[in-house]
Amino acid sequence: MDKPGIPRPTLSRLPLYHRFLAQVSEAGRAVVSSEEMGRALNLPAAQIRKDLSCLAEFGRPGVGYEVAELLANLEEFLGLANDKEAVVVGAGRLGQALASYPGFAAYGLRIVALFDVDPAKIGLEVAERPVFALEKLADLVGRLHIQMGIITVPAAAAQAVADAMVAAGITVIWNFAPARVGVPAGIWLESEDLASHLATLSYHIKRRGRKA
Ligand code: NAD
Repeated sequence: MDKPGIPRPTLSRLPLYHRFLAQVSEAGRAVVSSEEMGRALNLPAAQIRKDLSCLAEFGRPGVGYEVAELLANLEEFLGLANDKEAVVVGAGRLGQALASYPGFAAYGLRIVALFDVDPAKIGLEVAERPVFALEKLADLVGRLHIQMGIITVPAAAAQAVADAMVAAGITVIWNFAPARVGVPAGIWLESEDLASHLATLSYHIKRRGRKA
């Protein structure tokens, strides 16, 4: 469950702090200051201190944060230490790429199966995960108590897939289709609109003009 009252912008910055701390921890550092974190992440140190105070009282003025303690608390708070199983619906280019990506393991995410409606895809394996027919979704999600669904179908199919996920018992959806998807209260939906980010980049390329 979300800690009540934690603002969404704060929540969106916590993974940045986690990644930075994991790096400094790997480098063998024991203590880090909010100023150093701020310089590395291009954020005001006061903002970082305020964000981290939402978790608990960390850090000693003039000394900084204990890297291991803060890292463990962020992992616990974000649930990164828990294994999360997920299914991908849409075993096309993006669905296959996500299912094959080893980096999600660092976040505790394990994609257990893919689903599709295309008979040519059903029965295939992607990175040793099976591709099942969409009709099997509710059965697998129910049996394995899977909480997370990843949508990688064309935009026109995204709402129906989200509805099927919710009906199956999925409570957290990561949507990659460029479609406005509605979900009932209590379901967490995170949409990655890569096309709109690309449009923003395109605008910045145009604004900066072509360099000779
Ligand atoms: P794709 O055509 O390669 O794959 C889509 C898959 O979804 C196909 O296997 C298709 O059979 C399956 N599908 C269609 N309707 C379905 C349904 N109702 N239930 C289950 N499966 C269904 O497409 P893609 O390139 O992988 O893109 C997938 C989605 O991700 C699209 O919405 C696309 O706009 C978005 N997206 C893709 C990329 C990318 O880099 N490929 C980038 C950004 C966004």
